[in-house]
Amino acid sequence: MLADRLKTLAPSSTLAVQAKAKELRARGVNVISFGAGEPDFDTPARIKDAALQAMRRGQTKYTEVAGVPELRAAVCAKFKRDNDLDYEPADVLVSCGAKHSLFNMAVALLNPGDELLLPSPYWVSYPEQVRLVGGVPVAVPTQEATGFDLDPGRLRAAVTPRTKVVILNSPNNPTGAVFSPDALEAVARLAVERQLWVVSDESYEALTFEGRHVSIASLGRDVKARTLVVNTCSKAYAMTGWRIGYAAGPRGLIRAMTDVQSQVTSNASSVAQWAAVEALGGPQDDVAKMAGEFDRRRRLIVEGLNALPGVHCVMPRGAFYAFANVAGLFGRRVPPRDAGGKESGLAGSTDVAAFLLEHAQVAVVPGVDFGSDAHIRLSYATSADLIREGLARMDAAIRRLA
Ligand code: PMP
Ligand code: GLU
Repeated sequence: MLADRLKTLAPSSTLAVQAKAKELRARGVNVISFGAGEPDFDTPARIKDAALQAMRRGQTKYTEVAGVPELRAAVCAKFKRDNDLDYEPADVLVSCGAKHSLFNMAVALLNPGDELLLPSPYWVSYPEQVRLVGGVPVAVPTQEATGFDLDPGRLRAAVTPRTKVVILNSPNNPTGAVFSPDALEAVARLAVERQLWVVSDESYEALTFEGRHVSIASLGRDVKARTLVVNTCSKAYAMTGWRIGYAAGPRGLIRAMTDVQSQVTSNASSVAQWAAVEALGGPQDDVAKMAGEFDRRRRLIVEGLNALPGVHCVMPRGAFYAFANVAGLFGRRVPPRDAGGKESGLAGSTDVAAFLLEHAQVAVVPGVDFGSDAHIRLSYATSADLIREGLARMDAAIRRLA
């Protein structure tokens, strides 16, 4: 008999869609996947070389739990350079991806019954991690009409005596929203007033195409003292497989998270840490190059999505996702694939995703897993040619709907 907490645990649907597309491809099905939440670029050579050198130097043993001092120093320099934030190495914890940083936070901060405010749509792993430690995720909707900008009024109204944390993710997965400075200022005031912790997941910082990335921790001393900033090498440097994420914040919280990590995983991979020293500290031109390419694909896919009958999509301002509204397809009938097959109807995002996989061989993630059943998420971390081909297939399949 498994633990009760497993009764509500949903496995990561983003990773599941990726796995499903891979499996179909291995069976010879020509699937175009918009599922992957990872850059399709290779890790830059300078970063791989740094890992090889570390291996040759014999840096293959346990390191400090929080990360080698050189990497924590590089993280501090990155925060200064990109966010004008002052941290010392003792304020930094390096973990096995930002996902791990976030779980350390949940273990260190949440008692059973504590509430965490979650602007919705949200990344799939936040509510699951919170529930795993007995916390209560409270979804607080954002509006499509504002490009899914943060809604400070609704967040304020959702605060209860049990509210302990508000989690922010800008640029946002899945909506691509870049939260406005005004909204961030208002949430900073709310957090200070109501003594909430702020967790700011800035994993997609390097992929900000419109507007400006503002770290809420940079808005004042008071809010910085209650904020955990989380970031990762995964997206900016195409390093998803290396598993290096990092967090910076008040020393007491970082120490607690480090203690948790010391009993669970110890340090992140030593070799990957040395690669990350080069990633964060070396020349940053490759980052801008990748971001430029994502920006071109963003326009291509959003234009294509808006040309599909029954679909509309707001222009994302960051990350590499388009969050398309497909409610216009609900109620349409899917013709049977072969004689003797049954007609079925589209009633939600799971149906739409299944229909696209079966009738267009296109993989997308249903929005319901991100808190909105009216949407599907498409990652455009794939080539322009595949984006064009995928859109053409979707168009043809949708036109066959009854
Ligand atoms: N935060 C967000 C919003 C994400 O989309 C992801 C997924 N990659 C992560 C954190 C975790 O990234 P990683 O664990 O690869 O650093
Ligand atoms: N975060 C990415 C996504 O949303 C990668 C998969 C995952 O870790 O969930 O697709």
